[in-house]
Amino acid sequence: MAVESKRPETIVLHAGWRADPVTGAVAPPIYQTTSYQFRDTEHAANLFALKELGNIYTRLGNPTTDILEQRLAALEGAAAALCVSSGQAASAFALQNLARVGDNVVSSTDLYGGTWNLFANTLKDQGIEVRFVDPSDPANFRRATDFRTRAYFAETLPNPKLAVFPIAEVAAIGREIGVPLIMDNTAAPILARPLDHGAAVVVYSTTKFIGGHGAAIGGAIVDGGNFDWERFSERQPALNTPDPSYHGAIWTQAVKPIGPVAYVIKIRTTLLRDLGSAPSPFNSFLTLQGLETLPLRMERHCQNATAVANWLAKRPEIVKVIHPSQQSGETRARAEKYLKGGYGALLGFELAGGAAAGKKFIDALKLFYHVANIGDARSLAIHPASTTHSQLAEEAQRATGVSPGYVRLSVGLEHIDDILADLDQALKAI
Ligand code: PLP
Repeated sequence: MAVESKRPETIVLHAGWRADPVTGAVAPPIYQTTSYQFRDTEHAANLFALKELGNIYTRLGNPTTDILEQRLAALEGAAAALCVSSGQAASAFALQNLARVGDNVVSSTDLYGGTWNLFANTLKDQGIEVRFVDPSDPANFRRATDFRTRAYFAETLPNPKLAVFPIAEVAAIGREIGVPLIMDNTAAPILARPLDHGAAVVVYSTTKFIGGHGAAIGGAIVDGGNFDWERFSERQPALNTPDPSYHGAIWTQAVKPIGPVAYVIKIRTTLLRDLGSAPSPFNSFLTLQGLETLPLRMERHCQNATAVANWLAKRPEIVKVIHPSQQSGETRARAEKYLKGGYGALLGFELAGGAAAGKKFIDALKLFYHVANIGDARSLAIHPASTTHSQLAEEAQRATGVSPGYVRLSVGLEHIDDILADLDQALKAI
């Protein structure tokens, strides 16, 4: 970084880029190119042999994307990051990098539906078993672990329950036996820093708060560089045995001259190379634009969401408001421990009138967008029982935290009076 700082507000503006050495351009350029001219045959051979790091082909890396990767790594206090074309690709690669046919992963039950499908169906079909456990008791992770467990996975602030995950507790269980904790921090960037609490890897859907403007799908995998893969060589064969797809490289050894980045380098050199979920340089540029204001936006998202939670809690049409600011007991203690500077933009509430009231409320909204998304600068709303969770029976919906009258909000950056006015008129319409 040209300007050394550990403060997020400065990192998002300065890490990884100062100005174009030829033109002086300040904004990161969009390197809209597929390939890169090698200086000579020795340079080309060194790049392919990883003796030198550099640009080969945009499926493997791109200079615009590289700036985004450096900023995300700096923001998390990590060794390195890798950007991919979606959050889904990030979650899939994060596990496929360690688990092979016959292996398993233990995951929290409280997941985004798309991640659930990926784990319960697609990874299963690929021979990787994901064992789902209730995250409210960290010991459930230990109980579900066996000698072929390669990773733990959870979301920091999963909706609809919005109960913060016990990161340090589960990370500590895994660290004793060589199982890394991978945290999806999509809903809580800036607010939570999972690596500080012992997680080994952080994944993001940058589509949400990081991009922040609802303009680009993207994902990221951030390697903490803080996990001793070599010490647990039996537990982690993928990083400790020769890789036939890369002339027998043993990743923990091969990266030694570069740094503690075996995990993320293996994703770039094998999964990204073979499966090809590379981000477009233009999307990386859009995501960089969003990232520059992320700390500021998160502050306002949190202020607005807490104001909405307090306001909704007093409304007679509502039986329950779900937001960390309204929690108590152990759930609240976890929110206080892991979220700093606010409780996030996501909020749920249960309407006394059930499913019919939920649908009417959504149809009456004028300012809020009715979309299946979170983390936009604009306020968003959805009625999960009739949309995202509609394939599940009512009992199964309730188990995930979705009651018939549950409405999810992603509170945006509009003026708080306009947000409350829209909610007020929609509540009066039910
Ligand atoms: N993780 C979480 C918590 C999400 O909310 C989402 C998308 O909603 C994803 C991952 C998947 O991200 P993407 O839509 O960018 O593939």
